[in-house]
Amino acid sequence: SREEVAYFGAGPAPLPTPVIEAGGKAFVNYNNTGLGLAEISHRSPTANAVLAEAKSALTTLYDIPEGYEILFMQAGGSGEFSAVVHNLVSVWVERRRRKAEKALGNDEDKLLERLRKEVTEELKVDYLVTGSWSLKASQEAARLIGTKYVNVALDARKANNGKFGRIPEEATWSLTPTKREGGTGSAFVYLCDNETGVEFPAFPKCLEPQGADNEEDERIVVADMSSNFLSRKVDVSKYSVIFGGAQKNVGVTGITIVIIKKSLLPPQTATPPPALLHKLEIGGLPGTIVLDYATIAKNNSLYNTLPIFNLWIASQVMVNLVNTFGERKVSGQEEIANKKAELLYTTLESHPQVYQVVPDKSVRSRMNICFRVLGGDAEKEKEFLAGAETLNLTGLKGHRSVGGIRASNYNAVPLDNVEKLVRYLEDYATK
Ligand code: PMP
Repeated sequence: SREEVAYFGAGPAPLPTPVIEAGGKAFVNYNNTGLGLAEISHRSPTANAVLAEAKSALTTLYDIPEGYEILFMQAGGSGEFSAVVHNLVSVWVERRRRKAEKALGNDEDKLLERLRKEVTEELKVDYLVTGSWSLKASQEAARLIGTKYVNVALDARKANNGKFGRIPEEATWSLTPTKREGGTGSAFVYLCDNETGVEFPAFPKCLEPQGADNEEDERIVVADMSSNFLSRKVDVSKYSVIFGGAQKNVGVTGITIVIIKKSLLPPQTATPPPALLHKLEIGGLPGTIVLDYATIAKNNSLYNTLPIFNLWIASQVMVNLVNTFGERKVSGQEEIANKKAELLYTTLESHPQVYQVVPDKSVRSRMNICFRVLGGDAEKEKEFLAGAETLNLTGLKGHRSVGGIRASNYNAVPLDNVEKLVRYLEDYATK
């Protein structure tokens, strides 16, 4: 039964049992309508109510300010690797075009010439590469628009013997200078808030808003929060785009949540026509329409068929958090996540001869606790995992390319299960 198994998988992750049970009923016969939620139209009043409820709960939990839009999309975190590039480079081009039009009027040839020059000389996207997901995202940007436009402002492996596991000091990052810093700024700065094992301890100081006269001269900060979504308080106003796949902390696979500043959507910025981008020769742009933020926003996330059952699961998880934590909102969940992570790290650290936590203490993740057994002895790690399995402690095997042990501590992993794992860690170490 569910109660007997303590699952620590990296994602998809466990969901709260009451939501799973209610989901079973809603899948068969939603609210006695005689239809399941996966069978109804995404344009029905029921679907709209689910969408509204999900937006409202998320707005409450994260205190999302007025100037932001919530989008529900598909194609997962990886889809957003592409979407971010497509949309934000488009915004960059559109803003440049507006400025050029003011100076040059409507002379198409002159406009094109100027824009082409600006793209060649000034277009940059900044990536902070702190783990395999931000690395993948930066590679997708290079694939779409070309390596020459991608500035890897930080490759955390360089300062750590070729391995991820530390985030070097901000002073060593090489971000594209903003207008205030004497440059022209980048189309965006991208970071992954939680990589497997490595989490930004806080919003980077050097990315704080600079108080520019014009909002367009501020940095556009994009964060992948796929693996720590709704696990701590976030000052949404510092980000331009936050995205996350639902399948770890929020729901089942198939829904991707995007929180985006409205000033990056029409009418302020129209997506440039495909022909223009093509003429500017910016790699593989434009992207597909179902990843176009403006289109999805204009259609209230219902441009095409959204999986309403999956959305409902996410809405239930979020509504439960609202009901459970009340005024404390996501900070209530944060306390629990911190407590569970602390328990595990403290136990691991109390047996340094047996366990070695992989990432540096300053950046270790509250969501994925990565460690080695006896310095990474393959036989001992196998033995450790086999012993865990016999106790129904499952999903602990590390990433296939990295090895080791990885205990994922997502929101719905109960404290009881973490305590069971702590007991096993103690027993194994003292045996
Ligand atoms: N970003 C992060 C931080 C992730 O952890 C993952 C999935 N583990 C992804 C992106 C990719 O997500 P998806 O499989 O939904 O494309």
